[in-house]
Amino acid sequence: MFQLLNLKDNVNWPDWRWQMRRRIRSMEELADFINLTDDEKLNIQKACDVFPMAITPYYASLIKKEDPGCPVRIQSIPDFQELIRGCGDMEDPLHEDTDSPTPGLTHRYPDRVLLLVTNECSMYCRHCTRKRKVGDRGGNISDSDIERGIMYIKSHPEIRDVLLSGGDPLILPTVRLERIVRKIREIPHVEVIRIGTRTPVVMPQRITNSLVDMIKKYHPIWINTHFNHPCEFSPESVSALARLADAGIPLGNQTVLLRGVNDCPMVIKKLVHLLVKNRVRPYYLYQCDLSRGIEHFRTPVSKGIEIMEALIGHTSGFAVPTYVVDAPGGGGKIPVLPNYLISMTNSKILLRNYEGVICVYEEAANPDSICKPSCSICKDKSFHEKPVGLQKLIDPSNNIISLVPEGNTRKARNSSHRGGAHANAQ
Ligand SMILES: *Cc1c(COP(=O)(O)O)cnc(C)c1O
Ligand code: SF4
Repeated sequence: MFQLLNLKDNVNWPDWRWQMRRRIRSMEELADFINLTDDEKLNIQKACDVFPMAITPYYASLIKKEDPGCPVRIQSIPDFQELIRGCGDMEDPLHEDTDSPTPGLTHRYPDRVLLLVTNECSMYCRHCTRKRKVGDRGGNISDSDIERGIMYIKSHPEIRDVLLSGGDPLILPTVRLERIVRKIREIPHVEVIRIGTRTPVVMPQRITNSLVDMIKKYHPIWINTHFNHPCEFSPESVSALARLADAGIPLGNQTVLLRGVNDCPMVIKKLVHLLVKNRVRPYYLYQCDLSRGIEHFRTPVSKGIEIMEALIGHTSGFAVPTYVVDAPGGGGKIPVLPNYLISMTNSKILLRNYEGVICVYEEAANPDSICKPSCSICKDKSFHEKPVGLQKLIDPSNNIISLVPEGNTRKARNSSHRGGAHANAQ
């Protein structure tokens, strides 16, 4: 179905500027890369007219030609569904513009700000939450906007963490990026600078030695990247990550949960394992926002919960991202988890673990939990029932500390050397 030009043989392939210049930007260029029906051409053209398209030759080369559901294809090639208005769609769902004291700067949380330094990206993700702004049509961010943002940070001593984003800050020439980073680093109260970038995924050629040499002069700089699927790992992206990690840059990853791309516990588990193998800490798993043109990417929140259920306890703690819903209206990121807190009394907390084992955690002695010696109801033994279910964990006359579902493999493994009282849950 696809005919990829063999651009990989071009001597300029490893040069990010060449990758930028040779991006697929029009329907005609796209049709040179892949076979499209007339209907598809029409739909893609309509979507491009509203939301810009750009695909680096590198990212296009990851598209699997035989697979119409290829995650790289879905993330990069426009689709008519972007033109459908969804029921919950909003222009600026996260109130990034409303909570903005200077153009391009969002001050939402007490001690940190988001500073947009460009509206352009090497590849325009079809699921981008800032779709309304990215691309040359969004009106670019001027030097004076950035300057005003930096002045704002200077005059607010409570800001200790500055997050550079966009668009993609790493599409700026290194010298221009360095000017911005240096000015922010000169502000004494700024402890941490962060850069959010998708270039390791969509244009890893950008992670040059000269770029990392520049960045490491201004440490501590943290980088968050944006891998969404295991198929985005390639020899090029792996070595880009190694260059960043070797420069002492702590790496995080933000994944967006996307219908038809990565809405599966197995896919996300594979993804987080690949990330940690490459020294990248999975940071956030985002529920898809309510931005216009991305409703077809939204999964139910229950899908995210299902994924978290499959990760927590089942794999290394540092491989588990925090699943967040970025609250519409500027409420910020809100973590959402399966329920682990089952119940509580004023002396005992009942928790369940990833195996479904229900455990009791006893609080420190609490004077409020002591019965009144004068209470006759309590003394009436006929009133006491035999503890049932969770009461076995709560009742002080039982010393049971957990309820274990039948067929627990950990208990079978450790039964030879384990003490403690357990009961089977039935
Ligand atoms: C996500 C975000 C931040 C950073 O939040 P963390 O939870 O610290 O990563 C800061 N400002 C805005 C506006 C954001 O959206
Ligand atoms: S790289 Fe980030 S800002 Fe750019 S299009 Fe993708 S999601 Fe949007």
